[in-house]
Amino acid sequence: MVSLRSNGPLAQGGTLTTHMAGSEANVAIALSRLGHTARWVGRVGEDPHGEFIQRQLRAESVDEWVTVDPDRSTGVMFLEKRTADISRALYYRQGSAGSEVGFIDVGPALESSARLLHLTGITPALSPRSREAFERAAAGAEAHGMVLSLDVNYRNKLWSRREATQVLSAAARHAKIVVASDDELCLLSSRPTGPEHPANIPAVAAELLALGVEEVVVKLGSDGAEVYTASGKFRVDAVPVNAVDTVGAGDAFTAGYLSAFLDGVPVVERLRRGNLMGGFAVSTLGDWEGLPKRAELDLLSAQAIGSTQ
Ligand code: ATP
Repeated sequence: MVSLRSNGPLAQGGTLTTHMAGSEANVAIALSRLGHTARWVGRVGEDPHGEFIQRQLRAESVDEWVTVDPDRSTGVMFLEKRTADISRALYYRQGSAGSEVGFIDVGPALESSARLLHLTGITPALSPRSREAFERAAAGAEAHGMVLSLDVNYRNKLWSRREATQVLSAAARHAKIVVASDDELCLLSSRPTGPEHPANIPAVAAELLALGVEEVVVKLGSDGAEVYTASGKFRVDAVPVNAVDTVGAGDAFTAGYLSAFLDGVPVVERLRRGNLMGGFAVSTLGDWEGLPKRAELDLLSAQAIGSTQ
C-alpha cells in the first residue's frame, strides 16, 4: 500500500509525501536491513503506485513476489499528522489489488525454503479471498517446515473483535510465535473481555501456551516488551529515546525479535533486539525509513537497560 503523509491537517491541504506502507512489508524491510533474506508476497495494481512499491522493495533488497493485477488499483492511505502525538490514518483500500491477495499468490511461498512465515491479522480482515489465503497459509506452514509467526495487529476499522477472535484464535493454534500489544492479546482468549472483564495477560498467555504456542510476545510501548514461554515470563525495558513518530514501532519490534529468533539467541536477547528496533522506529521519521542496518544497532544499544525476570 502507498501512504501519502501530510505534516498537518489534511483539511487544510498542503504537501503530501509518498511512502510505502504495510505491516508485513515493514517487517520484511527491517529483517533485510538486519542482514536476513526476506521476501514479501503481495498484490499491487498495474499503476505507478504498484511500480513504486516494487521499486522500494527492490531497493531494500527484499525479494518481492508480487502479482500485478491489471483489474484493480494499488491501495492508498493518507496519514495525517494531526498533532505532535496523534497521527490519523484514512484508508482507500477496499477493493484494491492488495486486499484481494489470494492463495494463488501466497501458496508458492509455502513451497520455498524459508524458515519462517510471518502473517498479520490485517490480511484476513481485508476480503473473503485474503482470509482464505491467510487461513490456508497459517494451516500449511508447519507441514512445509516453517515456523509460523503471527502478529495480531487488530484494525477495528476492518472488522469486529468477535470476527477477529474467531479467525485469529484458529490461526494461533498453528503459530510458534504470537506477537500482540497488551490491549490486543485478549482477542486470542476464550474468556470474555471488555470494560467489566479487564484483560488478564498472564491468563491469556497461559491459554496460548497450552494450545502449543511457544512464545507469547507482548509489546508494552514505552515500557518495553515481555515474553511468556514454558520456562516463565521474561521482560526487557524499552530503550530510552525521544519519540518523534511512533508509527511502525510494532513492526520494527517484531522484526528485531524475529531476527534474533532466526539467529538462535535466547528470548531475552530477542526482546532486547526488538526493543532496539522499536526504539529506532519511534525516534526516527517514517514507518521504516529510519531503521538500522545490523552494524547500526549499537547506536542505541548503549542506552539499553537491563532485563528482569
Ligand atoms: P504501532 O501500532 O504504532 O506500530 P504497537 O502498539 O504495535 O505500535 P508498541 O507497543 O507501541 O507497538 O511499540 C512497539 C515497541 O516499540 C515497544 O515494545 C518498544 O520496544 C518500542 N517503543 C514504543 N514506544 C516507545 C517509546 N516511547 N520509547 C522507546 N521505545 C518505544
